[in-house]
Amino acid sequence: MLDGAATARAIREGLRPQVEALAARGQRPGLGVLLVGENPASAVYVRSKARAAEDLGLHYETAWLPATASTADVAGHVEDYNRRPDIHGILVQLPLPPQVDASRVLDLVDPAKDVDGFHADNVGRLVQKRPRFVACTPAGIMELLARNDVPVAGRRAVVLGRSDIVGKPMALLLLHADATVTVCHSRTRDLPAVTREADVLVAAIGRAGFVRAEHVKPGAVVVDVGMNRVESAGEAADLLPPERQAEFAQKGYALVGDVHAPSVREVAAALTPVPGGVGPLTIAMLMSNTIKAAALRG
Ligand code: NAP
Repeated sequence: MLDGAATARAIREGLRPQVEALAARGQRPGLGVLLVGENPASAVYVRSKARAAEDLGLHYETAWLPATASTADVAGHVEDYNRRPDIHGILVQLPLPPQVDASRVLDLVDPAKDVDGFHADNVGRLVQKRPRFVACTPAGIMELLARNDVPVAGRRAVVLGRSDIVGKPMALLLLHADATVTVCHSRTRDLPAVTREADVLVAAIGRAGFVRAEHVKPGAVVVDVGMNRVESAGEAADLLPPERQAEFAQKGYALVGDVHAPSVREVAAALTPVPGGVGPLTIAMLMSNTIKAAALRG
């Protein structure tokens, strides 16, 4: 197992001296979150981010808007955070309700406060290999690989999924780390043959247990970004390894990744667990980006 939670703890501990140095200059990094509606998963993520920020001594606040909020309502809150000097980082928790124009809202975030790294300015900088804020999930995965001595340079990396928030920035980061990168998606032909070429395989598609042993080259390192809720006993029996069956029986649901852990761990050299893999890394990198935003402000 590649222990994402332990790596995330190490990243966060490494941030404390930076927070102290900023405090010595009279600065406290501030993160402003915008949450719209009652999505239970979003509420859980926002709480985890709040706990991490509090633990590091950052200022943290959430503006919670009703599910009926309009694009103008959400935009107004973004502009408020843009103006405030005590807010260094802005996070718009996705997904937004369908009536809100998410692209318009994200375009409004001041690129210097865009700690999620979604703004076109920051994506462009990443493409040109002069990054400022990089999307937290792929940035966290690069930290995981580096801190666990997983070599990337010269190796074959396959990214499964091409979203703006995970797949594309992941592919760019691996490319910049000198991997030979292939990006796969729903139109890729003979997917198992392509993913089997990977020395490093990153799965980010949002399909529970989709990646099976047949997709994985023996000895590959597999990073599982997926976060899927399983509620049926039949699915749980198939997707969960034996040691997690009791957890499902007790809670009536379980979180699983895009990788079928019971079979893939038999062929992979290393695999990130779900939960406790990529999720904590994402939060650690959000803290890192917020502190960086405050430091850049000077
Ligand atoms: P997304 O925007 O839905 O993108 C999914 C990607 O997977 C798309 O590019 C899609 O291809 C591809 N795909 C879907 N089904 C496929 C199939 N059968 N074969 C090949 N490719 C397929 O998802 P996302 O936002 O990147 O998130 C992916 C997963 O990661 C989700 O489970 C999400 O919850 C999780 N996630 C976790 C974290 C974390 O911190 N742990 C952070 C972000 C996301 P097309 O482009 O062709 O449609």
